[in-house]
Amino acid sequence: MGPGPKRWVEVVVDGTTARVPEGATLLEACRSLDIEIPTLCYLETLTPANACRLCVVELEGSRALVPACSRTAVAGAVVHTDTERVRHSRKLVLELLTSSVDLSLAGPQVQRWMEQYQVRAENFGPPAPPAAEGERDHRLAGHHHPNGGGQAETVAQPVKVHDDLYIRDYSRCILCYKCVEACGEDAQNTFAIAVAGRGFDARISTEFDEPLNESACVYCGNCIGVCPTGALMFKSEFDLRRKGTWDESKQTVTRTVCPYCGVGCNLDVHVQDNRIVKATSPLDHSVTHGHLCIKGRFGWSFVQSGET
Ligand code: SF4
Ligand code: SF4
Repeated sequence: MGPGPKRWVEVVVDGTTARVPEGATLLEACRSLDIEIPTLCYLETLTPANACRLCVVELEGSRALVPACSRTAVAGAVVHTDTERVRHSRKLVLELLTSSVDLSLAGPQVQRWMEQYQVRAENFGPPAPPAAEGERDHRLAGHHHPNGGGQAETVAQPVKVHDDLYIRDYSRCILCYKCVEACGEDAQNTFAIAVAGRGFDARISTEFDEPLNESACVYCGNCIGVCPTGALMFKSEFDLRRKGTWDESKQTVTRTVCPYCGVGCNLDVHVQDNRIVKATSPLDHSVTHGHLCIKGRFGWSFVQSGET
């Protein structure tokens, strides 16, 4: 453990004073008071990407709304988290996302925010037809054309199923950058994926859109571990969902230590019907912070009876 903070700062959030260590963010100040701030692109183990803008709050003296996830709490700051302007901004962010991206697997919290902010995806019209397989992957920057009006443009496209380890369903991708950060300097330092394209045609891509198995990807699965929407998913989970038999209420999660090497990564083994269906790692593990290598993440199928 490093030395504790040298100083503390006090900020006022919705009329209540929060005392946080110097360098803490407004998000941390809000959370210290149990004030919920919705986030999509934020994860405590990653550098804030400031991508989703769902966490915006009003900061007195600031002309624009500020992202709570990355704005440092400065002594004397006065913050409002639930004003008309904040609610309007969050509602619009969620409406733009849900009109163009499939958020159905983004978790109950996101569904709750949809209700809380009275999100109406239909405000943008019925969804435009999905893109053909691979078509979005080759769009050129700046060449996006409106679809003629009356329909909401979407990122809908066929799922990429290229191997037995994980799938990429970019119809569910909100471009939060978490996978890019986990693959890059926040964890894996492999830099196999990045954002290609611009504007509405921006997408997650390997270098030159190479197939995953010909890219720099080492199949650590750390991108799956941080994806908030189910865009990146274990193939095992994907198959069970397709069959309609994925059932988290029937699953147990057992914490253990990865058996492969001496690092000692913690594994959370998810089991359904006496079969391992996926392996994750706890975010608060001091060695791995939720990240694993290919062996810990995927190397468990040998345990299943009758499989190699
Ligand atoms: S599996 Fe690992 S190396 Fe491959 S894209 Fe995901 S984070 Fe990067
Ligand atoms: S694939 Fe998932 S983690 Fe990556 S940008 Fe899209 S939503 Fe975020």
